[in-house]
Amino acid sequence: MFNDSESASDSDIEKRRGLSVRGIAEVANVVNIKKTFNRHLHFTLVKDRNVATPRDYYLSLAHTVWDHLCSRWIRTHQFYYQQDPKRVYYLSLEFYMGRTLTNTMANLGLTQAVEEALYQLGLDLEDIEEIEDDAGLGNGGLGRLAACFLDSMATLGLAAYGYGIRYDYGIFQQKIADGWQVEEPDDWLRFGNPWEKARPEYLLPISFYGRVDVGPDGSKRWVDAQTVLAMPYDTPVPGFGNNNCNTLRLWTAKAPQSFNLHSFNSGEYISAVCDRNQAENISRVLYPNDNFFEGKELRLKQEYFLVAATLQDIIRRFRNSKSYNHCFDNFADKVAIQLNDTHPSLAIPELMRIFIDQEKLAWDAAWSICVATFAYTNHTILPEALERWPVQTLAKCLPRHLEIIYDINQRFLAYVSERYPGDMDRIRRMSLVEEDGCKRINMAYLCVVGSHAVNGVARIHSDLIKKHVFKDFYELWPERFQNKTNGITPRRWLLLCNPGLSDLLSDKIGPAWITDLDQLRQLTDFQDNEHVLRELVKVKSQAKRKFADFVMREFKVKIDPSSMFDIQDRIIRTTQSANSPERLAALPTWPLRNIKAIIKLINSVAKVINNDPIVGNRLRVLFLENYRVSLAEKIFPAADLSEQISTAGTEASGTGNMKFMLNGALTIGTMDGANVEMCEEMGRENMFVFGMSVEEVEALSRSGYRPADHYASSPELRRCLDMIRDGVFSPPDNAGLFRDVFDSLVYHDRFMLLADYKDYIRAQDLAAETYLDQAKWSRMCLLNIAAAGKFSSDRTISEYAKDIWNVDPHGIKLPAPTSRL
Ligand SMILES: *Cc1c(COP(=O)(O)O)cnc(C)c1O
Repeated sequence: MFNDSESASDSDIEKRRGLSVRGIAEVANVVNIKKTFNRHLHFTLVKDRNVATPRDYYLSLAHTVWDHLCSRWIRTHQFYYQQDPKRVYYLSLEFYMGRTLTNTMANLGLTQAVEEALYQLGLDLEDIEEIEDDAGLGNGGLGRLAACFLDSMATLGLAAYGYGIRYDYGIFQQKIADGWQVEEPDDWLRFGNPWEKARPEYLLPISFYGRVDVGPDGSKRWVDAQTVLAMPYDTPVPGFGNNNCNTLRLWTAKAPQSFNLHSFNSGEYISAVCDRNQAENISRVLYPNDNFFEGKELRLKQEYFLVAATLQDIIRRFRNSKSYNHCFDNFADKVAIQLNDTHPSLAIPELMRIFIDQEKLAWDAAWSICVATFAYTNHTILPEALERWPVQTLAKCLPRHLEIIYDINQRFLAYVSERYPGDMDRIRRMSLVEEDGCKRINMAYLCVVGSHAVNGVARIHSDLIKKHVFKDFYELWPERFQNKTNGITPRRWLLLCNPGLSDLLSDKIGPAWITDLDQLRQLTDFQDNEHVLRELVKVKSQAKRKFADFVMREFKVKIDPSSMFDIQDRIIRTTQSANSPERLAALPTWPLRNIKAIIKLINSVAKVINNDPIVGNRLRVLFLENYRVSLAEKIFPAADLSEQISTAGTEASGTGNMKFMLNGALTIGTMDGANVEMCEEMGRENMFVFGMSVEEVEALSRSGYRPADHYASSPELRRCLDMIRDGVFSPPDNAGLFRDVFDSLVYHDRFMLLADYKDYIRAQDLAAETYLDQAKWSRMCLLNIAAAGKFSSDRTISEYAKDIWNVDPHGIKLPAPTSRL
């Protein structure tokens, strides 16, 4: 794995990774890195080259790169203190960061020097990079968006902080056994995490349970609560090509010394110590629910834990800042808090509780500060995803917050009835408290009422929330509603995952695209340049060959790199295990069973096709297990066709679609989410568009959708579905395994898939035909890349800065450091 060659000439290095923008391998830097690397191997890892493992090399390198971060990190926060700009706080239950080493080196401009230093030491950077475990503290799109936003906020130079939870276990590792999904715990901290600094000196107390005490003056106090401590771990977030280094602060739960004092006092020392785990379970594990609300007490405690620790920290920082004048009048001028979905929505009643119960502000004053401080991002309109906490659970865990929510609701409804006198139906519809069945709080409504800005994540999605979920609220406060179309960071999703394409682009249009993605428009100049188009094809072929090698190594499956790589990157995950038909049948709800069965079905179809002597040579189906950020980075550069096939109106935005586009894959897609804007940017002739529009979906829904009609009228569709029903893909001893999948499609088909089927096949045929015309295909690829500028998260963040946070989108430029380290 690690070769032993001496040293390389400069031209060798340039060949290996291109000179472009990966930083210049200055001799002084290379010497320095080698020295630091060896020093860490010796003093930090306490190993020599004879016994060092690949992981020791990874850790030595991580510590070496970390050393380059420290001064920038300290100086950034000194500078923020001196300048005292408005701070932006991004609150999210998920930060799906993936790997850190490559990104840090790229953003610091160290890649080239490190590569050369390692080469001189007989080590290979790419092999070392593969050792790092992903930080998988997210389910998918929502958590990855938060990670892309951190990169953009640091690169733009915003004084911004990410706040989240440091789960001991991130998203589970997905294994496929006999075609069934099996979940394994993601013990990502097992070998230590070199990218964080624990701050045990800054513990903060967090309360749960207890009751509300009313003082003689009518003031309220939360008393008799249990305390858990929140301990911060800081991760540096360096900007690209600047000297800024922001912070992602993640909280972990610690039991206080006094936890379970009762048992201590009664002499049950051992069990009292063991019980401390209970308190610390709050930050144990990420809930693997993507777009699905489960309503578990532990999840509520996680949400409050994040919010309570973060607000204490924000207020402490505000109090220590230069602009603090012993009151909270200017709080919202100095603090912007963005709520990533409703998961951190308890921040609204928590800030009210601090202002009213602790700081003794009057309700109206406190409320206007809150509304001016908070902004809320909605991520979905699917009803099963909306958080609606039972009043019972809130009353038990957070009694004072429930009271405050009731107070907010009472004042809000009074305002609504003033605006719409006598419109009782509207008042009932807009109540934060749902009375039908089990009493619940609608957290999305709480967010809309408690924020000055509400945004969707793609234009079509922002329009839909105004028409449906928040219709009444939009009528009341149209000025609150905005759109912020999602984006992705071009650093991770092009510069570092696709060096071949990066170098080609920099060669043709210069490297400015890395921080100004609109520069890609210049590529349109080359749309008829055969030479450039051939180079583009070559880069794609190389990436496909590399991916085919990887698939052979990792999955022992042979794929032909000259065939079309047609990829769907949807993640399918569920909480409960079903690794056999019996377990499948035992799952409580149909959607869960369906997902598990579909994973099994895909793998079964793959088995049949890949083993077919005729079809198997021309078509291969592959289910890549354990999809995650580091695997995604390998997939996008190799993709030819991107499947973005959600029924119109169901996908809020998508960001996978943007990653494919940026890496020169063509899209087959519906007019849904950000596909709509992608199509607009590239021109409809450069996308394989199919399926119903949102309007057509709505009309079909109103007129009564009958999937069985489509089944009956299309022989081809019927043949496919019958194969699923009749056991062509089923194991011999269980022919009826996929009967439920068939039934759900033919008799329910919630997402109207059968209605779109025919047009989908038409678009697939068109894509296949176009692929045979390499000249045309490569020209479309080029025009896709050229149109991807809008989908940089730098653009998204600039819009948040201007339209929601009221901070300068150009950020703060830190002066260059005086010394190298
Ligand atoms: C980008 C990304 C997602 C989101 O992809 P969508 O196709 O938009 O759902 C999910 N998981 C990973 C690992 C990603 O990189």
